Amino acid sequence: MNYDSYKQKIQAETERLNALWKQFKKDYPTTFGKTERISFDLPQGWVETVKTFAQKFEEIHPHIPIAQIKQKFGTLRIYPDREVFTRLTETVRADVMACIADVEEKALEVCEVCGTNNNVSRNSEGFVQSLCTSCRNEGS
Ligand SMILES: [Zn+2]
Repeated sequence: MNYDSYKQKIQAETERLNALWKQFKKDYPTTFGKTERISFDLPQGWVETVKTFAQKFEEIHPHIPIAQIKQKFGTLRIYPDREVFTRLTETVRADVMACIADVEEKALEVCEVCGTNNNVSRNSEGFVQSLCTSCRNEGS
């Protein structure tokens, strides 16, 4: 890949995430509406999985903003707003963590590029991603 097409790819990814962030703030106003954007790095293949989570979370915990979403070592990571979280009771905190653990676990079975559930695995070297066999072959 030459430098220009690399630059274009980065630009397109930045625009995708900016648009998605705006949409999340609008669609899930209590979960994302009040949060400053700290880290929002959501691979396209996981968007539907996270939307399902956000819909549910918005209903169950309407006063707990999510501060960060990212991909780390091929896994989805979601963090609630720290300040709000520390003020919660232990029971609520445990439930928040259970909701988050549930979606993080679900994402392990989803290809972060195309969103399929079929043949998803993580590589052990290099930049770790959760990918299906065909996306993995395309990338190599
Ligand atoms: Zn795929």
